[in-house]
Amino acid sequence: MAESHPPKRRRVQDPEHGQSTSAKPSTPCTRGDLWLDDGNVILVAQDGTGFRVHRSVLTANSEIFRDMFMIPQPEDAEKWDGCDVVRLPETRKDLGHLLNVLFNVGNSLLSYGQRIPFEIASVMIRLGSKYHIEYLRADAIKRLKELFPPTLDAFVNWWIDGKSRGLTDARYPFPSKAILMAHRDCIEMLNIAQTHQLDAMLPPIFYMVSLLENEVIIGNDTDYGSEETQSRTLSRETLVKIFNGHHRLRRQGVEQEELILRALPGPSCKTYDLCARASKDSDMRILHLASLYRMTNVLSAPTTVNVCDKCAKHYMAEWKDQRLKAWKDLAHTFELKTEWPIKSN
Ligand SMILES: [Zn+2]
Repeated sequence: MAESHPPKRRRVQDPEHGQSTSAKPSTPCTRGDLWLDDGNVILVAQDGTGFRVHRSVLTANSEIFRDMFMIPQPEDAEKWDGCDVVRLPETRKDLGHLLNVLFNVGNSLLSYGQRIPFEIASVMIRLGSKYHIEYLRADAIKRLKELFPPTLDAFVNWWIDGKSRGLTDARYPFPSKAILMAHRDCIEMLNIAQTHQLDAMLPPIFYMVSLLENEVIIGNDTDYGSEETQSRTLSRETLVKIFNGHHRLRRQGVEQEELILRALPGPSCKTYDLCARASKDSDMRILHLASLYRMTNVLSAPTTVNVCDKCAKHYMAEWKDQRLKAWKDLAHTFELKTEWPIKSN
């Protein structure tokens, strides 16, 4: 069996238009990781990597593939190892992930409790939508909703209450059992949510993106290859929303800190003088001034203050109100037209 395949007339299938186009001879093909010996069709990615799989599985999963295979092929259509060759515009990584999920290779990725890497979830939404494989799209969305939920109580990550959750690495801020997602993946997630009408997830995604370093947000970091760079590039309009939002969060952050610094003891306090002094305490002022550096994190859990239990409870309640207000304001903060907060049924 041939390990590689000589260049031939290029035929690119564009699933959006369902037709093939002939072009200049393409680059030689090489075998991808997924190569089923009894497969009967070879899907070739943009860079010439071929995956040998079963036509019947593709047809059963996707009406787009079904329609594509129904188009009669000319006599001189491209062949490799006796199989029909279909060239697709997808990258090697994307096509490989899609086929590995569809052909269930190396254990079921979609089994209950299986934590999938974000890049696979991304493929499941993007290519699941493009090739009409609804269960892949739905599965990925369900997982991502866990990270970007409609309520503040369900929004769990390092920036909110990392300490109490035992989260130690801010680069991987989500404790989710459904998806392994790095903080900087939120940028690609933002693009996906905008492109695929996942409006309900936008406010918490914008919030997470706004907590990243500016260099990362504008894409000046060079850790990614060119394939990834594109999916991580935000539009100018989106960048403006993020940086304006940043400014508004900062203002909310100052208001939250003021609340603590100027707080009077709670109504049922029995040690009024002590508690009143505590908020004027220089250590506490330093603590709060220090927190001004991370002030845009307006949804974080409250800092402990050295007051009586009744006052602590009173402060907590006030802080909780402020956080909830900041959460409900997210759509306004980032100038989004999304319905927010989402009305529960
Ligand atoms: Zn008190």
